[in-house]
Amino acid sequence: MPSFVISYGVNKGAHYCSGRTNWSGHGEAISSCDEDTEGRFWVSNDEYASQVAFCPYCGKKAPTQPEQGN
Ligand SMILES: [Zn+2]
Repeated sequence: MPSFVISYGVNKGAHYCSGRTNWSGHGEAISSCDEDTEGRFWVSNDEYASQVAFCPYCGKKAPTQPEQGN
């Protein structure tokens, strides 16, 4: 079981989860998932960030979904 923490309030009302886990389907160790001011979710590790449709930690759906068809 991956261990992680879920916390809120980093960005007023915004979603934020963090912790180290290997998320199947991603193949990389993700260290956090946070919501930007436009309701997009970004997962990131020490190297980069990428936009996701759902939080890999808690499963919450991003208010603003990634662009499709790219
Ligand atoms: Zn979450």
